[in-house]
Amino acid sequence: MRIDKDRIKPFFSTNLIAINLIINSVLLVLVFCLLSSPVFVLPVSSAFSQEKNLPIFAIKDVRVFDGEKVIPQATVIIASGRIKAVGQNISLPTEAEIIDGRGKTLLPGLIDAHVHIVAPQALEKALIFGVTAVVDMFMDVNLMRDIKKRQAEGRAQNMAYLISAGILATAPGGHGTQYGVKIPTLIGPEEAASFVEARIGEGSDFIKIIYDSGEAYFQPRPTLDLATIAALIQEAHRRHKKVVVHAATLQNCLDVLKLGADGLAHIYFNDAFDPDFGRVVAAHKAFVIPTLAVLESLSGINEATTLLVDPNLSPYLMADDIRSLQSRFPATIPLEVKQRLSETRKKIIGQLRESKVPLLAGTDAPNPGTAYGVSLHHELELLVWAGLSPLEALKAATSLPAEKFGLKDRGIIRPGAMADLVLVDGNPLEDIKATRKIVSVWKEGQPVDRRKYRQEVAREKEKLEQLKKAPPPVLSSGLISDFEGEKITASFGAGWAISSDSVVGGKSKASMELIKEGAAGSQGSLRVSGEVAGGGYIAWAGVMFFPGETIMAPANLSSYEGLSFWLKGTERQYALFIFTQHAGFMPAYRRMFKAWEEWQEFFFSFKEMGLEAHDVTGIFIGAFQDAGPFWFQLDNIRLKEKAK
Ligand SMILES: [Zn+2]
Repeated sequence: MRIDKDRIKPFFSTNLIAINLIINSVLLVLVFCLLSSPVFVLPVSSAFSQEKNLPIFAIKDVRVFDGEKVIPQATVIIASGRIKAVGQNISLPTEAEIIDGRGKTLLPGLIDAHVHIVAPQALEKALIFGVTAVVDMFMDVNLMRDIKKRQAEGRAQNMAYLISAGILATAPGGHGTQYGVKIPTLIGPEEAASFVEARIGEGSDFIKIIYDSGEAYFQPRPTLDLATIAALIQEAHRRHKKVVVHAATLQNCLDVLKLGADGLAHIYFNDAFDPDFGRVVAAHKAFVIPTLAVLESLSGINEATTLLVDPNLSPYLMADDIRSLQSRFPATIPLEVKQRLSETRKKIIGQLRESKVPLLAGTDAPNPGTAYGVSLHHELELLVWAGLSPLEALKAATSLPAEKFGLKDRGIIRPGAMADLVLVDGNPLEDIKATRKIVSVWKEGQPVDRRKYRQEVAREKEKLEQLKKAPPPVLSSGLISDFEGEKITASFGAGWAISSDSVVGGKSKASMELIKEGAAGSQGSLRVSGEVAGGGYIAWAGVMFFPGETIMAPANLSSYEGLSFWLKGTERQYALFIFTQHAGFMPAYRRMFKAWEEWQEFFFSFKEMGLEAHDVTGIFIGAFQDAGPFWFQLDNIRLKEKAK
């Protein structure tokens, strides 16, 4: 069998494109969730106390970081979901449960100032890791409204508190539109007022603007002009809403600061340095959310995997969290550039700090290399690496984001404040990594049952282990389909189906039929024809094979070395996505390849794709991206046996 390695192209050909995809993976999750929404079931935790009568308790003799400063030893009394008293010689209510705080540190619940929420479970995950509030920078409006309704009705006790920008402001075809989800865009300043009005109507807490022409990664795309951005900022401010801008380059940042942006959603992406930058940001009284965790991952350094082996964290990581932390932006930046970028970022943080610019801790989870909740602990570590003191880093994750985003009574420990609290072992003011040694988390005065969650994680892991032991499907010589019969059949599994972005409102389409001409002189193949619609990254049309007994049920294919098939068709880019139970609806295992109007045999090694293949739920082959009509014929698709 010929191995067409040279035809196997990486998913994205350059890291520069990857930069443009900062939140694409989120949307891939979203897109593929929708693809099979009836079976999209994350383990929904019941690990949270829902009782309404709030306990009275006191944490005695504990070191307190109150959001701004350290109190070496104090007692904190909590009643009715709020902090009642903080002090050294305060009398304890007789009915209060007493928690011994010696050797421990009490922190305000942590706040992640840059996330993208794709499901309510994301907020449960955050809470488990002591992140009691998050600032979302672009999410689905219906989901945002649903969560906010739960919050308003007091039914969100098991979730981190959410505030969100809702839909971001961008140009038609600009960054933010590539997700297969239709969002309103703007073309000029005259639309700014109605845009802001609409966002406020939907419940956006602030306005997020994209200013990114793609030049930072040599991938031109439309962006809003400065006149429109100016109008948006003006209108948002008139309506008392803050504005956070995703500005890609140093120059973009300087431009939007001049126009009155309140904050920057990331430090800029390009390898530029201006010794005055810190002073300029400070002069404009803006805050910055560096998001070092995602930028690190973006430049191909993935130290987030150290989180996986931390015994304080790993027992709370579900399979999808692990997958997200392990996944990478397909960056191919040369080592010296990586190192330079990382040093540049350190310098940028240094100048911002020196100029007293408020720095907020944010992760941009769940982008590749990040996961909800857990990654904030990594961000804290990175902020300290970049020169912040542990106290400054803790402020960046508590009182500062609370103040900048109007999270009233959160991020602070003082009488009257919401009892969002994290109790940790040791002293994170000396060693920032102590934030990971979580003893207890309280949201609005109620304890989070981390033990129960931990048990659920263990059960999930056990289930996945069971899948590894599941017998492989019975099939002769690895054949899935040769398409020689009268019907589109497969020798095992739940068969073939069309898959296109139409499930998310896209316009791509495909159909399939058997035709009496096949590869290597055979008598039949599967012909798929259709059209990929333009207008975004997430466009696909092709066929999906389900190897399990039912659609998206897992099949153990781990005894096979890989997948081979013959394909010919319109000369263009094609994709192979392998879906697994553990990665959910994220097409975590993927390869792009080129084919043309001449039969070629392709082989994809599971091992080379990083796939263990014990829980494969779907195999997609089809046209991906690049708009236009296409056809292809698929034949003789097989699993290759491992050499004995
Ligand atoms: Zn983001």
